[in-house]
Amino acid sequence: MLDKVLIANRGEIALRILRACKELGIRTVAVHSSVDRELMHVRLADEAVCIGPASSTQSYLNIPALISAAEVTDSVAIHPGYGFLAENADFAEQVERSGFTFIGPTAETIRLMGDKVSAIDAMKKAGVPTVPGSDGPLGDDDAETLATAQRIGYPVIIKASAGGGGRGMRVVHTEAHLLSSITLTRSEASAAFGDGTVYMEKFLENPRHVEIQVLADGQGNAVHLYDRDCSLQRRHQKVLEEAPAPGLDPDARAAVHEACRQACITIGYRGAGTFEFLYENGQFFFIEMNTRVQVEHPVTEMVTGVDIVREQLLIASGRPLSVRQDQIKVSGHSFECRINAEDAQTFMPSPGNVTLYHPPGGLGVRMDSHIYTGYTVPPNYDSLIGKLITWGVDRETALTRMRNALDELLVEGINTNVSLHKDLVRDSHFQKGGVNIHYLEKKLGL
Ligand code: ADP
Repeated sequence: MLDKVLIANRGEIALRILRACKELGIRTVAVHSSVDRELMHVRLADEAVCIGPASSTQSYLNIPALISAAEVTDSVAIHPGYGFLAENADFAEQVERSGFTFIGPTAETIRLMGDKVSAIDAMKKAGVPTVPGSDGPLGDDDAETLATAQRIGYPVIIKASAGGGGRGMRVVHTEAHLLSSITLTRSEASAAFGDGTVYMEKFLENPRHVEIQVLADGQGNAVHLYDRDCSLQRRHQKVLEEAPAPGLDPDARAAVHEACRQACITIGYRGAGTFEFLYENGQFFFIEMNTRVQVEHPVTEMVTGVDIVREQLLIASGRPLSVRQDQIKVSGHSFECRINAEDAQTFMPSPGNVTLYHPPGGLGVRMDSHIYTGYTVPPNYDSLIGKLITWGVDRETALTRMRNALDELLVEGINTNVSLHKDLVRDSHFQKGGVNIHYLEKKLGL
């Protein structure tokens, strides 16, 4: 077992990782910026190291500072959490070169999946269904590009291979705009990501976002943990998630689960990961793989009983997977509301002092949050202050519990998006299940 783990993150995920380490008897090192001394996990960790000022480029993204912190504390492994350096292949490489274990896949895998063209190519070869599109990057031959779009059928979407965070994409509805749109996306991609490689996909008009959680030990064993629906999004940011995804075509669903599991074995995947798909008219289309633990992992834990962070730690210590596919079943239903420190109407961040915090409780209610009464939310980072998760024997029960839990939750002193969630869990279309990725923005009048 790993002896001591450095947690290279902050907020709720740092606390989540700390809790998993404690259960396994692993000692913990918290690293924090100068404004994060009062974070819950910093107080609870065995050791804490200040790695720099508030600005994340000088602290949580500062690779030499993180590696020095691991050295001075005699840590053996580094857990990157999500965001910050979690999908940075150079970080993974430097961690391993410095003699520490990176809790995640190899740098090579992160690189393969971080480049969308190579990721799609690898997935096609592994038998995972992808969006109809160009075979690799678009070249300079305009006639060929026009023919590709003809074959796929308009509308198409031009995407930067190095893109991320919903940036570097452009939808094209007619042939007249195709070539100019490609030129524009190329130059934007060069400027933003230092790589002008673009490719073309069919633009799906009303898909749902459905993703498959996987775990693999890099020793030939892989399992899938079924699916989540994360279609409620605003500006490509997920707001409310659930597991399992409701109302999927059962045959397509079973096939995609198995395809993802097999793909992990084919690419030699190690750790926790997520295959993201667009789902439309009963079909799955791969868009990207996240090579890390995700914010919404708890809904999968609630319905499968598998502790995903614990598995990450076990895999990193060289153990084979502790569960076999035939032991993993879905039981009941789970929802997660992302609670943000932001105005519920304008979405403006709302940092500041939390004058009162009262989390909800009861059977099937889980609150993953680092805040407490008196805690000050700094203005420097993501506005996520907690995740309210419920479980029930069926979707209706889990949703009723979420309604009640949201009514119990009190966060005072700062603005939060709790009222938006209260509205969403009472929305008749959402209650039915299966709304598409445009639903929330339309509802908000955006
Ligand atoms: P990023 O890495 O920037 O998040 P993704 O490839 O995951 O990029 O795409 C982000 C979002 O863009 C998707 O969740 C979806 O809303 C939209 N999108 C991407 N590809 C398509 C497509 N082929 N058709 C329709 N929407 C798409």
